[in-house]
Amino acid sequence: MLLNKKTVIITGASSGIGAAAALTFAQAGANLVLGARRADRLDALCSQIEDIGASAVSLAGDVREEEYAAALVELAGFRFGRLDAAFNNAGVMGTTGPVAYMDPDNWHDVIATNLTSAFFAAKHQIPALRVNGGGAILFTSSFVGHTNGGLPGMAAYAASKAGLIGLTQALANEHGRDNIRVNALLPGGTRTDMAGDDPDTHAFIAGLHALDRMATPEEIAQAALFLLSAASSFVTGSAMLADGGVSVRLG
Ligand code: NAD
Repeated sequence: MLLNKKTVIITGASSGIGAAAALTFAQAGANLVLGARRADRLDALCSQIEDIGASAVSLAGDVREEEYAAALVELAGFRFGRLDAAFNNAGVMGTTGPVAYMDPDNWHDVIATNLTSAFFAAKHQIPALRVNGGGAILFTSSFVGHTNGGLPGMAAYAASKAGLIGLTQALANEHGRDNIRVNALLPGGTRTDMAGDDPDTHAFIAGLHALDRMATPEEIAQAALFLLSAASSFVTGSAMLADGGVSVRLG
């Protein structure tokens, strides 16, 4: 019960890594505040979590809006009386292609969804964590934010995910004395909606990894559980790879 009675916000909880994290954290005893855009999926996940004897509440919204970040923190206080941790995980890949031909709207959307959302989240989560004497914040970056070899056409995504590592380091420095730990998780290729369902694409992505396979969302959720729980109590400012060795293969 690594998160026993801890209140945790998870964004991007309607599918993939976020949904797997919701179930993993619920099994670890957390009270959950779930965010994403699809209300029906969030409702279904809340029921599933209640069925296993844990508590969850959800609010659908858009992480590109600061008001939504504030509302999730408010909901944590209203429903559970406190905030202990946040897994800021929502993200999009955007349209891939060379920078010379990239539509600026695509660039702005990817940065807003993946990076500016993290600033909004931290801005509203930090005061709520501080009130309780500290806590933990985690951002989902990507192996693409660390080593981009082998995957051309992902400039906006790579910039947003590398930006999260910089934000993590700055926040960890600024708030270490508040007992707030801030880390980034860098998953490798993971079998979610984002990776599509084309077997040839999956085989290509799998082959980039030293382990020669993609991750399941549950494997990434376990790494997130570690970084948000007291099991990682001396880990802050880190960009932790859970990438099946893709970075050592691609260098
Ligand atoms: P996914 O598409 O299943 O999940 C993305 C989630 O983000 C969904 O719940 C979606 O509703 C939410 N989301 C997207 N835009 C949003 C917005 N504007 N407002 C609110 N919610 C929004 O994919 P996933 O793989 O589970 O992605 C989760 C995170 O993991 C992302 O940040 C992604 O970049 C990162 N990641 C994924 C992989 C991979 O191979 N799948 C690898 C490394 C990192």
